[in-house]
Parts: sequence; structure tokens; C-alpha cells
Amino acid sequence: MKVVDGLRFPFSEAPAPGTLIEVVPRLHWLRMPLPYALNHINLWVLDDGDGWTVVDTGLCTSETQGLWKQIFAVPLKDKPLLRVICTHFHPDHIGLAGWLAEKYQVPLWVTEKEIKAARTTFEQNENVMTPILTEHYSRAGLNDAIAQAVATRGNSYSRRVHRLPENVIIIDPSKPIEAAGKHWRVIIGEGHSPELAALYSEDLGVLISGDQVLPGISHNVSVRPTEPGMNPLAKFLGTLLRFSALPEDTFVLPSHKLPFYGLQLRVEQLIKHHHERLDVARKACRLGASVSDVLKIMFERDFDAHQLHFALGETLAHLNFLVATGEIEMVSDGELDLYHTLATAA
Ligand SMILES: [Zn+2]
Repeated sequence: MKVVDGLRFPFSEAPAPGTLIEVVPRLHWLRMPLPYALNHINLWVLDDGDGWTVVDTGLCTSETQGLWKQIFAVPLKDKPLLRVICTHFHPDHIGLAGWLAEKYQVPLWVTEKEIKAARTTFEQNENVMTPILTEHYSRAGLNDAIAQAVATRGNSYSRRVHRLPENVIIIDPSKPIEAAGKHWRVIIGEGHSPELAALYSEDLGVLISGDQVLPGISHNVSVRPTEPGMNPLAKFLGTLLRFSALPEDTFVLPSHKLPFYGLQLRVEQLIKHHHERLDVARKACRLGASVSDVLKIMFERDFDAHQLHFALGETLAHLNFLVATGEIEMVSDGELDLYHTLATAA
């Protein structure tokens, strides 16, 4: 078994496009392409006996639709699709939920906060968002990036997500979900998205982790321009402990990269990573700094508009965390926000 950074990977290769690998009995792995640096998402198909449950769906692109058609025409042809479960509202996860739900007349299962975030983001109007984004970037000290960012982003969410379905079943996190002949406990992750539903089967020792616990890549934990005061990093780090409480030998099925063993170690690595990033942010604020100043120190590289949006969100997540712990304060003249280390915390 391949070992990288202490994590153990039983599969060295992912399934080819349009094909499935049965990773544990009645649970199949497939991949869909993404047009980003992170070029794929893992999806899961569970065999419910009389039909299939799909967990996550891929981006709304004709390429992904074509692959789904191929999958339902060949490896999944013997039984109907019964439902779609989405771990969270990000486009690579929920992008084709509406399309699958409509095409196969099945419900979408999703948590309440995730479907709400999906609908709100889907309906965001460019005319409303442009001034919000402009103020957000300008208070961060990123004036040069504003024009470019606003011009190129628009409502990128609704371009990547099919119209959301009406037929939605809200997941109650206190009740297990029955799939593939097993009970799956819903474990909620916060901070990466509002109410991410990870699924854990004690019988199988398997965790479908969504984006909450990924191997090898750091997670996007971001402050969104529409909610500038949020502290998602505290939520992310806090809810990670629900995952490290699972058994040592849990087999983790993440939404990106390869399935692995080593959940507790991965949680430790993630906590350490964010504490190192907090340390960089903390030091950057010693002499007073704008978000843009901190971002440059935290990332040390140039970004295109898309990446800049996420880097800004991530920088703010670390700054808001330090503001909440009382280590730094934010002083604003309404045009530019400046962050200072507080004397008592120095
Ligand atoms: Zn995500």
C-alpha cells in the first residue's frame, strides 16, 4: 500500500472516465473532470438493492452530462436511480443534482443550510453583487484587482450549476440514512461550507468525507463577500474533532484525490497547517496591515482573478479567527480595513 505523509492509500489509480471501481461491497467510486488546477471530483454510487443512490454529481457541463449518460447506459443500466445525495452546495458537488433529479424523477437529499446556500448563490444577481464585491475588494486594499475580478466573475455559480430541483428531502443530521444495506450516520462539517453532510457507516468502517477531510491538499476555508464578519476557520477546526473521534481504521472516501486510511493523522495535519497559517497572519499584523498586505505574505505568489477571490477569502478567514480570539483588532475608516496586533497579545 502506498504511504504518503503517513497516510495509506490502497488504490494507486482512480477509475477512468465513465467507469466505476467497487471500493467496498455495494459502494462504487467514479470520477468526473473539473476544468481547474484541481482537475477532478470523486463521486460515489451506492447499490440499494432495487436501485442506485448517487452521492455528489459533478459540475454542470456537457462533458459531465455525457459521462453520466454513459454510466447509466452501461455499468448502472440494470437498475434505476433512486435518489441523489449532495454533501454540500459547491458547484462541483451539486452542479448536476437538478439535472439528474429532473431526468430520472428522483429527489435530492441535502441539508437545510446547504440547499439554502445553493439557492441564494444561484439567484445572486450581478447588479446586486457588483457593489458588494467592489466594496469587499476595496476595503481589503485590492483596488487593482477590482475591475478585473468583477468583470470576470459575474455569477459564476449559476453558470456551473443546473437549475436546482424542487423535489428536495432535507437531511436530518440526527437520523441515519439507509443506503447500500447499511446505516450511515450523518456527520456535519462546518467552515468549508455551512452544513456539509459527511456519511459514516460503522458497519463498513467507511467515511464519505466530502471536502471536509481531504488528503494532500489544503481545504478552502473562506470568508464570503456577502458574510464578511463570519469566522469559518473556528467552525472548521471545531467540527474536525467530530471526524478524529471516529475509529483509527476508518477508510476515508474524499471528494478529491485518493481514498485513504489515516483520518486522525490527517485531522492533526490540517489543524497544524491552519495554526501555521495563523502564525503567519499574526506576525503580518504586527505593524498594522491591510488584508492585501497579509495575503501577499501568506501566499507569496501572484493570482488570477478566480484564485485571488479564494486567497482573499482564506486570508480573511485567518484574520477573522484572530480577531475573534482577541489577538488582533480591525480598525476601519470605512474605505480600508487595517489589522493590528493588540498590545496585550504581543
Ligand atoms: Zn467544497
